[in-house]
Amino acid sequence: MKIASLHMAILILCAGILGLAAKDFLLAQTTPQSSGALTVIRAGTLIDGVSETPRKNQLIFVNGQKIVRVTGAGEAIPAGTTVIDLSNATVVPGLIDSHTHIFLWGEDPAKGGYDANILNAGIALRAARATFAARRALEQGFTTLRDLETEGAGYGDVEIKQAIEEGTIPGPRLFCATRAISSTGGYNLEGYAPELDMPKGAQLVDGPVEARKAARQQLDHGADWIKVYMTHRSWVDREGRLVSQPTLTVEELKAVVDETHGWTKKVACHAYNGIGLQRALDGGCDSIEHGLEMTDAQIEQMKRQGTWYCPTLSPYYGDWASADTPAGKRDRARAAVHEDTFKRALKAHLKIVFGTDIGGIPWTEPIAQEFQRMVEMGMAPTDAIQSATSRAAEMLDMKGEIGVIATGAYAEVIAVSGDPVKSIGELEHVKFVMHNGSVFKNELRK
Ligand SMILES: [Zn+2]
Repeated sequence: MKIASLHMAILILCAGILGLAAKDFLLAQTTPQSSGALTVIRAGTLIDGVSETPRKNQLIFVNGQKIVRVTGAGEAIPAGTTVIDLSNATVVPGLIDSHTHIFLWGEDPAKGGYDANILNAGIALRAARATFAARRALEQGFTTLRDLETEGAGYGDVEIKQAIEEGTIPGPRLFCATRAISSTGGYNLEGYAPELDMPKGAQLVDGPVEARKAARQQLDHGADWIKVYMTHRSWVDREGRLVSQPTLTVEELKAVVDETHGWTKKVACHAYNGIGLQRALDGGCDSIEHGLEMTDAQIEQMKRQGTWYCPTLSPYYGDWASADTPAGKRDRARAAVHEDTFKRALKAHLKIVFGTDIGGIPWTEPIAQEFQRMVEMGMAPTDAIQSATSRAAEMLDMKGEIGVIATGAYAEVIAVSGDPVKSIGELEHVKFVMHNGSVFKNELRK
């Protein structure tokens, strides 16, 4: 696509525009501390991301980008050490959202729906919005995102990641999926005159050869994960059951999975239910995204295969069409089966990770709203926190490095005023964020 060749120029442009506003803070706060400069965080309460029980009065020693020691409050603090006093706060590891879209700017029909993202926004505007999204995530304490495809913005995510890593813009650690893969008839833009060659929000393939080639292209251009759409349209049939159109065949998916695993990377499969979800499991996907309706047998298969479940509950509760329309019936059916599936997955101890699908939900909304949904549906608050910390880190092959406050981990530390175990909604009000050992935000400073 032409779009891709423009990325560099656009990112420089964006950095120019957004860099001006962010310049002061960039210089003051995001420069990684040099090794040797010790910082100590006094944590009133510490939820370390792994332990079941919070600990009181802990000291977190940070050197450079890493946590070098976590001790009780009695430990001596060397003279000249910078001390950050969070003794009245609850300290939690930086959060991980395992399903985001930094390049998606809402799907509200009143604002042109999904199509407006591609038809009305040029790539510079899209890069500026992705830059905003990255900063929003970090401000809310999300220090890592698995960003599951750019929705028609090509390899822009890899370049946003580069801009973050070089310190040009603030943002979380990104795991990028680039373009995503679906089949002909398996993704938007749709509904236009057949004579028109419309751009698509994913790379469409037919046959195992094309499927493998798409995976190779995406991996070659920097994909950390491969995202595959295994279902597309969904509707309610005459008996009131949710039906989803399957996309790739098992053979096509197997080609993608085989190629991706060869690069020691993983495959995330968007799958609602039915045939497409079964093909996702039989094809060997590593994570099921959404998984609105899964049978007990499918849940068992996931347990056997070690498949992760990223439910993304929140997006299915907004923008319902009116109850008497086909779309309205579908919207209600999706939420109903999702809740039932989530509860059975919990009972079966499936490996559940926190994901919001934000981007589909406007980036101006709180990302942490998903915690509330999970807890309302029966997940223990500590379990919900672990789904967004240590468990997600394990899925991302970063166990012990992120999603935990312990010796040797990156210093990804956030804090809230209250107790998120008692009131999970506290996580919507993150007051302190340290990313890679640098303080990004501190509203708790006395
Ligand atoms: Zn998504």
